[in-house]
Amino acid sequence: MRHIAKGAEPEFFAQWRRRNAKIVRECRWSEDSMPSEADRERWKAIRRQLKTDMIEREQGYLCCYCESRIAADTSDIEHICPRSKCRPLCFAYSNLLVSCTKTSHCNHHKGSQYDERKLVSPLQSDATSQFRYLSDGSVEANGDSEAATETIRILNLNARNLSAKRE
Ligand SMILES: [Zn+2]
Repeated sequence: MRHIAKGAEPEFFAQWRRRNAKIVRECRWSEDSMPSEADRERWKAIRRQLKTDMIEREQGYLCCYCESRIAADTSDIEHICPRSKCRPLCFAYSNLLVSCTKTSHCNHHKGSQYDERKLVSPLQSDATSQFRYLSDGSVEANGDSEAATETIRILNLNARNLSAKRE
């Protein structure tokens, strides 16, 4: 995991949030929950633009957790604190990153598991130094960081395909 320095919220997203206050308040992230077809199409376009923007500007085309190469078509927006636990942060720019779509690790493996004290976030300034990579491709906690150990487990950062790629 690499530290990600989050930039300012892009104006197109801030504007969309202001115009869709009710949707934001009700945490209607899924396009199926949008009130009309036009809203649905608009939200899909905004979400894609947001994803592309974060991938390019903040993440250098890498998954926020496993650092696999990603593009807009092979990634999902990740809520650091899951929607089920942090409804007020549903559309908060500071809670959003972009993850790969592999089901065996990262965002999809994490699901709704979340405990702020036990999970290392890429937004932490010391995120990079909490992990170390071994010559066999596996990753472990650097020192005795319990949070790093738990993060590796929850994100399954030692999934077989990931270790093989790092080797
Ligand atoms: Zn990943």
